[in-house]
Amino acid sequence: MDKVPNQLIRMVQLGDVDSALKAEAIWQCVSCETCTTRCPKSVDCAGIIDALRQVSYERGMTSKRQVAVVLFQKAFLDNVRRNGRLNEIELTLQFKLEGFAAMRRLSFLLKDAALAPQLQKRQKFHLIGEKVRDREIVHRIFERCMDGQV
Ligand code: SF4
Repeated sequence: MDKVPNQLIRMVQLGDVDSALKAEAIWQCVSCETCTTRCPKSVDCAGIIDALRQVSYERGMTSKRQVAVVLFQKAFLDNVRRNGRLNEIELTLQFKLEGFAAMRRLSFLLKDAALAPQLQKRQKFHLIGEKVRDREIVHRIFERCMDGQV
């Protein structure tokens, strides 16, 4: 990380929010919540870092490399919301097309194509995705999360 959690929190406290929003560290955080759990002042560092990620993306301050992370997370969640579980073909198509639209780089579109046959040979990539039977339950879980009830 280019900045550790307490440095990010201090930047925000001192009003240097832009530096915190541009830090690579906010995209390297995996939300494990160790910093939140161990903070002697009970600061929700992980929650603040999560908010910094959202604001960074909304304000267009996210680097092109990190935009791919955001688009992948979005494609992943959209996919689970739609199917109840992951459909790898749909996920890959959405991620690659939205990434290409955002970055305008042909190399991004083609980058991992050569891996597909190897993954499929090892049965790590499934051409036909499965859906859960009662997707309404999955929709309700997402709605409750969006409403902040979870
Ligand atoms: S939540 Fe975990 S990964 Fe993120 S900054 Fe805190 S300790 Fe690091």
